[in-house]
Amino acid sequence: MSLTNTDLHSSLKKYFGFSKFKGLQEDVIQNILSGNDTFVIMPTGGGKSLCYQLPALMKEGTAIVVSPLIALMKNQVDAIRGISEQHGIAHVLNSSLTKTEVKQVKEDITNGVTKLLYVAPESLTKEENVDFLRNVELSFVAVDEAHCISEWGHDFRPEYRNLRGIIDRLGDNIPIIGLTATATPKVQEDIIKNLGMTDAKVFKASFNRPNLFYEVRPKTKNVDADIIRFVKQNQGKSGIIYCLSRKRVEELAQVLQVNGVSAVPYHAGFDAKTRSKYQDMFLMEEVDVVVATIAFGMGIDKPDVRFVIHHDIPKSIESYYQETGRAGRDGGEGHCLAYYAYKDVEKLEKFMSGKPVAEQEIGNALLQEIVAYAETSMSRRKFILHYFGEDFDEVNGEGADMDDNARNPKPKVEAQEDVVK
Ligand code: ADP
Ligand code: MG
Repeated sequence: MSLTNTDLHSSLKKYFGFSKFKGLQEDVIQNILSGNDTFVIMPTGGGKSLCYQLPALMKEGTAIVVSPLIALMKNQVDAIRGISEQHGIAHVLNSSLTKTEVKQVKEDITNGVTKLLYVAPESLTKEENVDFLRNVELSFVAVDEAHCISEWGHDFRPEYRNLRGIIDRLGDNIPIIGLTATATPKVQEDIIKNLGMTDAKVFKASFNRPNLFYEVRPKTKNVDADIIRFVKQNQGKSGIIYCLSRKRVEELAQVLQVNGVSAVPYHAGFDAKTRSKYQDMFLMEEVDVVVATIAFGMGIDKPDVRFVIHHDIPKSIESYYQETGRAGRDGGEGHCLAYYAYKDVEKLEKFMSGKPVAEQEIGNALLQEIVAYAETSMSRRKFILHYFGEDFDEVNGEGADMDDNARNPKPKVEAQEDVVK
């Protein structure tokens, strides 16, 4: 299938109402339309979904989209149905459907109405579904959140490991599209190996967030007072403060409230109603600050979060990048401040000690990297990007002066022979 750029742009406009592609989207889509295996690595919010949705809508047959979360799939299906009168244009196939619903889904696929079929890996591995899907026309298989394949990723799901075998059974030479926001070379290798996509064309966007300022402060017993001072200096601005434990979340939220800061706590121990109440208060700007465990943030899109504070060091650079990435989505300032004490690292190590050995080894290796980040005197942006396999010019690169080390370089310790003598 060969398409001019004009064709592509008019389809983009027609289906999604956008007049421009974002970043690498156009090249990615061209590659998918040509029937090639494709590997897409873009930060969260980069626009990965459109990379497979648009070609799926344009191609003959049904595209299968493998995704780990039912909620994510439902959102996408609703969005796609919103752009077309054809209700059957997108479906989710899962075990919660009634017999009648399954029959309708299969009919829509057979009749060529369904362009996007979302499935969780465990549904795709079901024999009856494999039997059905191998007899219909498929355009390609997109594996979203492909890092779930890797134990080095932040969300390992063993069922993702069986995907290659299943896809082979669905037909010959079905193109595979892998997509992830995980930029670490180790995870990428795992994805390519596991999905058997050694010939895939790789599209990797930059992970640099030049508007974010990175800072690490030593964590002393005055940390709460330091946080209060910081928040007061940023009064009226929205911010997230991450803590490791639910207990600390509640304590710190209270300390802030007592000190006149409008703050709510958030963690998975609250019931759904309370959680969504606090979340809405933050989104509607009834409060400035949410103090939260990492349960807060997935899928939250508040563009003007001005600071993200880590009261405790996170468990990996990957997590730190994701969590700080919620600041400055609108391109405006975003201050990312982490408090660091080695004691906290030992706490995290203790957490892991009950886990299987292989998992502990990976966990500890990831932890050592975040320790190195906290202790480094080099450009923090360079450190993070290097971890993601990306070069960064700490003198002229975009955002080069946006971290504590770049602003206040530590004096280099040099051997001075004459002084030593
Ligand atoms: P990702 O999966 O990479 O995290 P999404 O696919 O969820 O990102 O897209 C993030 C946001 O970007 C969505 O709100 C989407 O509608 C928007 N978006 C995607 N492509 C474009 C585009 N070409 N122009 C404008 N907005 C876009
Ligand atoms: Mg996505």
